[in-house]
Amino acid sequence: MKAFIPSPLIHFKRYIMASLKIITLSDLTTRIAQLPSAAQQVIIDIIIDRNNEIELDQLFHGYFTTSQVNALLACYDLSADMAKQQLCRDLILLAQYYSLAPISNYHVGAVALGNTGAIYLGANMEFKGVSLGQSVHAEQSAISNAWSHKESNIIMLAVSAPPCGHCRQFINELESASQIQILVNDKPAESFSTLLPQPFGPEELDINERLMMAVNNSLITTHNDSLVRQAFQAANNSYSPYTNSPSGISLQTSTNIYRGSYAENCAYNPSLSPLQAALIALNLAGDNINDITRGVLVESNNTLVSQYQTSFNLLKIISDVPLEIINI
Ligand SMILES: [Zn+2]
Repeated sequence: MKAFIPSPLIHFKRYIMASLKIITLSDLTTRIAQLPSAAQQVIIDIIIDRNNEIELDQLFHGYFTTSQVNALLACYDLSADMAKQQLCRDLILLAQYYSLAPISNYHVGAVALGNTGAIYLGANMEFKGVSLGQSVHAEQSAISNAWSHKESNIIMLAVSAPPCGHCRQFINELESASQIQILVNDKPAESFSTLLPQPFGPEELDINERLMMAVNNSLITTHNDSLVRQAFQAANNSYSPYTNSPSGISLQTSTNIYRGSYAENCAYNPSLSPLQAALIALNLAGDNINDITRGVLVESNNTLVSQYQTSFNLLKIISDVPLEIINI
């Protein structure tokens, strides 16, 4: 008798194509109504489409510029630092809207306040049909979001649940790690060093670079294909001081192109792959992972580390699109 070979690609693709968002836009509107009344209209003006009031504005990509944050802070009758804390706590409700958690149904939102005063949202992402190691945590999402918008440091991070050990290690890769104020829902702010005593960090491996510092790996391409050029740019900005294996991914959908840069960690395991980073950008732009039509990976020929097989498998599961690769 012929052995039965399951077809996980078809099965899981069909599942993923269903709507995964538990928090609907109508829930979100209800949540916004809990904010200070002056802040409600400011947020709605930023995130909701003016022409179609039942959709998010396509121009809102999961972050608030410094001037938008200042407009929101002015709505809080609190001291400057307490207003920042409260705004970050309040925006967790919005961050959770982006959570895709078909395995755990546990929706985590994170809100990062950057050095420039801009605010970046993040949410967890899970992918059915691949290993749990492919999951993205909300804190990683917020940090990758900030980094991709050229933010160089995080000074405050509000999360809907205490940061797990994985995320504490990931956050410790930032230059500002020890000074970050961590806010978990309504609990008092804590310094990150309280959450991670005796950290293992880049300095243990004599590395001076830190995640989110501006990087240019000086990779040059002569390709005319715009998607390939975007993947090169992502690889140029990637952070891999431990293996010297720069890599980047670009994803094409019907409406946009999203880039993801590899973010390595001194403990290796909490590293963020370029595909995870690109999917974070796509998700926070309100785009649909099922609309991906093309994906390109640019990575070094360095044999120590390769993103290809793992990224190929994940992209194939969620979109049925074969990942193209260009070695440098
Ligand atoms: Zn975590």
